[in-house]
Amino acid sequence: MTSTYISIELQQQVRADAERQCGYCRHPESLLGMPLEFEHLIPLSGGGQTARSNLWLACRRCNQFKGGRFEAIDPQTNQLVPLFNPRAQRWTDHFVWSSDGTQIFGLTPIGRATVQAVHLNNDYAVETRCFWVEAGWWPPND
Ligand SMILES: [Zn+2]
Repeated sequence: MTSTYISIELQQQVRADAERQCGYCRHPESLLGMPLEFEHLIPLSGGGQTARSNLWLACRRCNQFKGGRFEAIDPQTNQLVPLFNPRAQRWTDHFVWSSDGTQIFGLTPIGRATVQAVHLNNDYAVETRCFWVEAGWWPPND
């Protein structure tokens, strides 16, 4: 059986690396009311390690939709591409917010595949973002 134990020290490093926000939908821990989860960028089932280089934070929703995947189909080109890697890639290179700040659009094959595979615009996430926009907390300004 593969161990998923993550030491407190490693947890602190990854939380700092990820700046306490989901690597995919960017929802911050401070607004979620629950801790973000540690996720394996390359899943253990795909040979990924429980190491700083392979760990990031994700919200429960994104983590569950991502599941054991690390690749998905880009809906525009039908090519199998890697999912976005929040540790190795910059979010703004692959995604952009809709003008009202509630939807995420993929800019690249990786971005488009990730939006679809991880359901970044699922109804619950969009509904929450509507309130955050109304409150002036959203979208992130980078
Ligand atoms: Zn998320």
